[in-house]
Amino acid sequence: MTASAPTDSRRVNVNGTDYRWPLRPTVVVCIDGGDPAYLREYLASGDIPNIARFVAEGHALVADGSMPSFTCPNNMSMITGTPTSKHGISGNFYLDTATWEPVVMTGPELLRGATILAKFAAAGARVVSITAKDKLRKQLSKGLDLAGGSVSFSSEHADRCTLAENGIENVLPWLGMDKPGMYSMELSLLVMEAGIKLLQERRPDLLFLSLTDWVQHKWAPDEDGARTFYRLLDNAIGRLAALGATVALTADHGMNDKSNADGEPKVIWLQDILDAKFGAGTTTVICPITDAFVAHHGALGGFVRVWTRSAVTPQQIIDAIAHVDGIELALDRETTCRMFDMPPDREGDVAVVARADMCIGASAKNHDLTGLKGHRLRTHGGTSEAKVPFILNGPLNAAYRAKTASETVKSYQIFEYAINGVV
Ligand SMILES: [Zn+2]
Repeated sequence: MTASAPTDSRRVNVNGTDYRWPLRPTVVVCIDGGDPAYLREYLASGDIPNIARFVAEGHALVADGSMPSFTCPNNMSMITGTPTSKHGISGNFYLDTATWEPVVMTGPELLRGATILAKFAAAGARVVSITAKDKLRKQLSKGLDLAGGSVSFSSEHADRCTLAENGIENVLPWLGMDKPGMYSMELSLLVMEAGIKLLQERRPDLLFLSLTDWVQHKWAPDEDGARTFYRLLDNAIGRLAALGATVALTADHGMNDKSNADGEPKVIWLQDILDAKFGAGTTTVICPITDAFVAHHGALGGFVRVWTRSAVTPQQIIDAIAHVDGIELALDRETTCRMFDMPPDREGDVAVVARADMCIGASAKNHDLTGLKGHRLRTHGGTSEAKVPFILNGPLNAAYRAKTASETVKSYQIFEYAINGVV
């Protein structure tokens, strides 16, 4: 890559981090559910030559993702450059203890702080944010003014984009693609194709391309479906790089198999355990992975929260469940927030983390597992799914080489490394 243009002296500060003006178009791809195990498999088999080149010529490591290892918290971490404790989005749901009702946490009003995309757009950059599922789009575009030529849309709603709402219209005919199904690899591939075409035609300064983890929930690294997806993804990533962009790859979380030898999910039904011990209605278990599209994980993840109506204490809950096979951690609010850098006002009284091979549900009767029929349960949420790839297609400058040597790299630093760190 050549940087023949004079360096732009503009700087943009977002939530305390200083960013220089991008030297060239900079693309961050969030491979949803992109556990390092997939890349290990395909780097070894030669299925992903472009990513292999990035690893050889650029900079590659395994970074710490934000906890809990879910989609929304980590996407928000990436676009704000901050941990969950700062941006406040610690799952898809939390419990409002005033009403005792679960509250959806995907609204932009709950996101604290500014986004890197919005601040750069306000400073005159053209930014692009494309995501697979529309539930993320509104948070990703928080405060983003599209008037300067920026674009924000989702594959899910690619057929209903308007210039006013999305900064682009007629997306499907422009791409020559059909509308993808909600459960398809094309939902992610459309994100990539749109990013490539926008880079070609409009040369924006910053792009955030956020995929969906349907593939990784469905297939392990050694299965053909996953291999096919990664080949196609690698091809698209190669085309982004060929357009002269800085390309950064990471994941929102990893993915682990949580089924037994017979293919049945290994679930701890935590609400049922707590009801048997303390009585129904005493505690409320919230599964923050829950969303409208649960067919591929049945709302089962590796991290849940328990709230108590004060008849039992957090310590009594911890004592009651700490011995349960498959529970890795049961922690009170203060310890959880200190350990995982999470916001106390949205944390439960007790947070429960599953071991890598197990998952946690609320009450067996409330989880619809029919969508899992014929497939092993693969899911995420715990510390065992919080390690993610962190790959840049160019080498780091001296300052960022020193930084990687002296600190644990967090995936929420992906924009910082891509913008400030790549030579
Ligand atoms: Zn995800």
